[in-house]
Parts: sequence; structure tokens; C-alpha cells
Amino acid sequence: MSKSSLKHNESDPSLPRGTALLHDPLLNKGTAFTMEERAALGLKGLLPPKVFTMKEQAARVLENYRNKQTDLERYIHLASLQDRNETLFYRIVMDNLDEMMPIVYTPVVGQACQQFGHIFRRPRGLYIPYDERGNIAEILHNWPQKDVRVIVVTDGERILGLGDQGASGMGIPVGKLALYTACAGIPPAQCLPVMLDVGTENLGYLRDPLYMGIRHHRVRGQEFDDFVAEFITEACKLWPKVLIQFEDFANLNAFRLLESWRDRICTFNDDMQGTAAVTLAGLFSALRITQKSLCEQKILFLGAGEAGIGIADLIVSAMIDEGASLETARRQCWFVDSKGLVVKSRDNLVEHKLRYAHDVPFATDLLSAVKALEPTAIIGVSTIAKSFTREVIETMAQKNERPIIFALSNPTSKSECSAEEAYTWSGGRAIFASGSPFPPCVYQGKTFVPGQGNNAYVFPGIGMGVVACEAAHITDRMFAQAAKTLAEQVLESDLEMGRIYPSLSRIREVSAYIGAAVAEVAFRDDLAGIDKPVDLLAYVQSQQWQPEYEAFVK
Ligand code: NAD
Repeated sequence: MSKSSLKHNESDPSLPRGTALLHDPLLNKGTAFTMEERAALGLKGLLPPKVFTMKEQAARVLENYRNKQTDLERYIHLASLQDRNETLFYRIVMDNLDEMMPIVYTPVVGQACQQFGHIFRRPRGLYIPYDERGNIAEILHNWPQKDVRVIVVTDGERILGLGDQGASGMGIPVGKLALYTACAGIPPAQCLPVMLDVGTENLGYLRDPLYMGIRHHRVRGQEFDDFVAEFITEACKLWPKVLIQFEDFANLNAFRLLESWRDRICTFNDDMQGTAAVTLAGLFSALRITQKSLCEQKILFLGAGEAGIGIADLIVSAMIDEGASLETARRQCWFVDSKGLVVKSRDNLVEHKLRYAHDVPFATDLLSAVKALEPTAIIGVSTIAKSFTREVIETMAQKNERPIIFALSNPTSKSECSAEEAYTWSGGRAIFASGSPFPPCVYQGKTFVPGQGNNAYVFPGIGMGVVACEAAHITDRMFAQAAKTLAEQVLESDLEMGRIYPSLSRIREVSAYIGAAVAEVAFRDDLAGIDKPVDLLAYVQSQQWQPEYEAFVK
């Protein structure tokens, strides 16, 4: 029955009643159920008599939240709220995003994963252990929501910078999906976190009596690939419009999974492609300051893992869009890994580094590579703290009027340099961004507000765009367009402070612009599954879920 056809004081008969309603986090309003709703839905006596507004409920949650002694306790507090009342949870997270994003997601979610078996309250999402191979369809059918649109799936092997967390890595898909909703407005009922539990090499977990995953070493090779394939095939059968985001798979699987599935289903890998888009956006913003083109940049990466290669691949694709040839574009991207400059003469380079191995003399370290190549930008994705030394940054500043210096390794303790070091050693000329947040700093009387290249600027908006237009695939062109759009959303006043990303307080608005830009590419490239709306931005905005209580009784 539609709500408009309800008579006065009547409720939708399909709604659960009584305690079942209070225990449904998507519908529960707790003390905000009105007297009419309490009467109509069998809630009388199950709640204290005073009816509270959402604002009053939020004040109570915040008071408790801020009284907690540790970040992990704050994480547990918010997770419990999400399990009771998702609408209130999202209202509070969205209204306090700067404060809560580091709790709901990195870095605190990392601690939560490490303690997962010890802090566990209620399950969220689907656990698919390897022992259930052959039965995945049955497990997926157990999920109560019928219109799943975004799945974040992990096997927990490379959780943030923490290595193999096995089934405890489930905190990551849960946290990431919370950001899809908070930052872009994907309805929570359409989000599904999935743990593909293929075992763990983490001996601490294998010995921990409270560890919640299956207790054997990781399944590898063809058996692993077949298991992932069964999951993907069954999920796409059940939810044909679903976007499946791979998350925190180890390098040995991540590159292969992306390559083998990206043209067959709607999928992407945020560690590679999301990171790439947010970094490219940072470059586009930096170029607004330097007034140069992307093709004029020579970019030197420290670290040739998932993030570095993903960023370089997207930069190449964006340079090609600007008219460069593949060869020329690749020649603008250079890598230093743990063994030195990646060059053609080196033996045993893995596949993904080969395309960036250029025919020049070898350099043993970053400083000699900077001196030899004279890059316009250095991007740190090495996990090696303090590897952008004073000499490296001073050399960059000698060669460039405005050196671009991105120290992206997380957490803060692994950052290649601090914001203060970048500004001080470059004489206040660096255009700086980091992976983890740094506080504003003052250099010679000027205040700099460093930008944080947080993937949350990009993946929720990409998801929103893809879901809104029912895109069949997610292409590099969509990521490049997302990057361009994000850079356009940076205000002149942000750039003046040195901030090359917009303020987080505008993230919903920014995500809608990114969503519309991504959908535009989908329509242009004939990948969209719906007719094109006249006003794409307005359409995407209309699809954004809002954390507001629905009236259940007319
Ligand atoms: P990864 O493990 O795939 O890659 C790290 C790479 O650094 C490896 O290739 C490793 O060989 C290399 N390395 C190790 N020691 C080195 C040394 N001494 N000199 C040069 N290179 C060295 O990890 P990843 O996913 O590529 O992530 C790298 C870092 O980037 C992490 O700290 C991660 O937190 C960060 N990151 C930041 C963002 C962001 O800011 N948005 C996004 C993704 C990743």
C-alpha cells in the first residue's frame, strides 16, 4: 500500500511492528517514534514516554560519544548506533564528518579490525567462507535486501597498512560503505559489505581463540580465482545492477582481479583507481596554481605498488586525452622503488613496472633520480617515513618555481615528509598534499592549509554516478573525469591557502557533481542503462538518500 493511500492514523501493513521494528536499524527511530506511530505500530510501553526530536537524540549520542576515553571506544559507540538506528547514525556522521571520518574509516577502523574478534557486537554484511564454495548463491539469498547496488568486497589480505587481517578485515567494507552513504547519499539499504574468507597467514589470529574467521592458511591460485568468480557470478545474477568494489586485496591478486573483471562487470579497485583519481585531481588543482598543462609534467614516484602504478596509469590516460601518445605519456612517469630507479636495464622487473622502465642510466636512490630527471612533481607512495629529505625537497625547489610534493603514505607516521617540512624546505613554494591529515602551519607569516588526498573525495561520487545511471562498466575515462570535476570544485580561496582539495563540509555537493560527471561519460560512451535525464546533476541530487525520519503514520 502506498503511504499516500493510507487513511488517518493508519500505518503500512508491510511494516514490522513492536520489537521487530525497534530492532530493524533501517526503520527504527527509537525515542523519535511519534505517539500516533507508537499506537499504530505496537510500540506502546516499549519506549520511554517522552518523544524526542532527531536533534535531541543526536545531542545525547554526541554527549556520550565525546565522553569516551579512546578512539576505539568511539568507534564501538558509533558502530552500535549504526546497528540500532542507521538514520540517526548518518545524520550524526554527516553533521560531524571532519571529526568522525577518522573514526568510522581510517585510521581508527584499522584498530577496530585488529581488535575485531574482541569488540564484536553484531554482525553486519555477509561472510562467505571458502568452505562454502559451491553454495554462494544460497548465502547471497540470505541477505534480506532485494535491491543491492554497491558491494564492497575484501579477502582481508592487505588491510590498510596493517597486512593480513583475515576475516577481521570486515571492518573495512563496513566503514567504506558508510562513507558511500555519508559522503554521496547511496541509500544504506542498497549497500552490502562482503568478506570472502579464504583463510589467513596471520599466526596471531590463527592462535587467537576469539578470532572469527576460518582457521587455515590462505587458499591461493586457481582455487582462489574460482571462488572469487563464483561470488561475482552469483552476485551479478541476483543483483544485475550491482557495482562490486574490490577492496584491500593483496597486490598479487588485486592487479589480476581488476584486469580480468573490469570489462565484464561493473567494478573498480579503490586502492588503485580511487587513489589515482584523487591524486590526479590534486595534480589538476596544482596546475591551476602553476598554470601549466598535465602533459608538461614530469612525475617521479617513490614506491611502485598498487597506489603508484594506479596513479601513473590514470595520469597516462588523462595525458592521452590531452593529445599525448601512449609512449610520450608513459615517458612522463618515473618510478623509484626499494632498489632504485626503475630502468630498462634492471633484471626481474614485475609486469606492472615494465611499462614505466625507461632506457636511461640507473640511479640508486631518490635524490640522485631527482637530480638526474628534474621532475616537476614527486609523489610518495612508498610507506617509508621521512624519505622526502631536506635535500630532496630543496633540489625540487631549485628546479621548480612551485614544486609539487605529494607525501601520500599513511598513516601520518609513514608520511614521506610533513607539511611543515615541505613548506619550510621549499621556502613556502611547495604545492603539498598528504595521505593523512596535517594541521595548518605558518611559514614566514603565511598560513598554509595542507590538502589531504583522501579517497573519500572520489569513490562515493563515482559510486553515486554509476548507480544513478546504471553503468555497465567503470572506465578510466570516468575516473579522469571525476578527477577533473573534483579539481574544479576547489575554490580560489582554498588554493590561496595552499589547499588543493575542497573542504569536507561540501562533500555531498561535490559528490553529486562527480556523480553527474561520471554519468555523463557513461552516457557518452554508451554504457548507461537508463534514458538520459535532461538535467543530470539534478537527477543525481534527487537520488541522494537523506538521513531523515519517514512518517510511518499519516
Ligand atoms: P604497496 O605495498 O602496494 O606499495 C608500496 C611500494 O613501496 C612497494 O612497491 C614497495 O616495494 C615500495 N617500497 C618499499 N620500500 C621502499 C623504499 N625504501 N623506497 C622506495 N619504494 C619502496 O602499497 P600501496 O597500496 O601502493 O600504498 C603505498 C602507500 O600509499 C601506503 O602508505 C598507503 O597508505 C598510501 N596510500 C595513500 C592513499 C591516499 O592518500 N589517498 C591511497 C592509497 C594508498
